[in-house]
Parts: sequence; structure tokens; C-alpha cells
Amino acid sequence: MTVKEKDFQKEKQIFLEHIQKSGLRRTAQRDLILEIFLRTEEHLSSEDLYWFIQKEDSSIGHTTVYRTLKLLTEAGLAREVRFGDGKTYYEHHYNLEHHDHMICTECGEVIEFFSAELEALQELMANKFGFKLTHHSLRILGVCAECQAKENSLHRAAPGAQPKIRVKSVVSV
Ligand SMILES: [Zn+2]
Ligand SMILES: [Zn+2]
Ligand SMILES: [Zn+2]
Repeated sequence: MTVKEKDFQKEKQIFLEHIQKSGLRRTAQRDLILEIFLRTEEHLSSEDLYWFIQKEDSSIGHTTVYRTLKLLTEAGLAREVRFGDGKTYYEHHYNLEHHDHMICTECGEVIEFFSAELEALQELMANKFGFKLTHHSLRILGVCAECQAKENSLHRAAPGAQPKIRVKSVVSV
């Protein structure tokens, strides 16, 4: 698979239009923040992005990064996501298929997934309650495969330990 060097022309155009509509000026700092954000692929907090930007231009302050991320969100280029650790993360939003997240509470790994069945079920539930669904963010918390494997090998190292007893809860329907 060849990875083409993207130039993000369309994204830059959208951002410029949004800035002009908001009555703001196009600045070299905002351009650089957009450029670096588009080059990232992870879920980043504004703090994370700030450190990336520091490497290229140390004169850009955290507040500028934060405000620019807000602009990117308004323009539809970024999306805010929360994983339950109290921080706000940002990910690419433009031209990206909808997806939801699984978050490992041990190591913080974030798995992106999409399930047409789950999406349909959510629609169905909303309809059932006469609820007009506008958007959703599904967050599944748990322990990733790698952390489970680590935990298992830890248990094996302690022979004689009592096996964990799982009590099945009875859910009445
Ligand atoms: Zn979803
Ligand atoms: Zn993990
Ligand atoms: Zn994501």
C-alpha cells in the first residue's frame, strides 16, 4: 500500500472560509496549528497538540492552540471526544466515517470501531422513546487484550492463589 502525501487542500479551504466568516484574520500561527493537527492521527488533547507545536514554533502559546482547536471544531474539521479521564481530546472529523470508542482503563489504549448493528439499535431505542437522535458518542470502558494477557501471566506466577469466583448476576427482564 502506498501512502500518498496529503496536502489537505480541502481542509485548509474550509478553515479559511470559517475564519473569514467568523471575522477573524488568517495568521501564520493558525495555519501552522491546522497543518500540525491534520498531520496527527491520534486523539489529542490541546496539551498534546501544544507540545507538538512547540517543536516547530515555540512562540505559540497554549491559549492560541486551544482557541484554534475550538475553531477547527466549529468548522467541522475536528471533533471533541471524551474518554472519562476528565480531559477533552480532539480527532479528525472531516471526511471521516462515524465511529465509536473502546477505552482501556488500565493503559488508556483507545480502539475505534464501527458497528452498523449497534448504530441501528441506537436509532431504534431513540424512536421507541420518541427521542430525536441528533448525534451520539458511544464509549465502552474495559481492559484491552494486552492488559488482560499481562494480568493473566501475573496470576499464573502465583500458584496456589485462589481462583477468582465470578458471580453471575441475574437480570430480570
Ligand atoms: Zn456510533
Ligand atoms: Zn490496556
Ligand atoms: Zn476516534
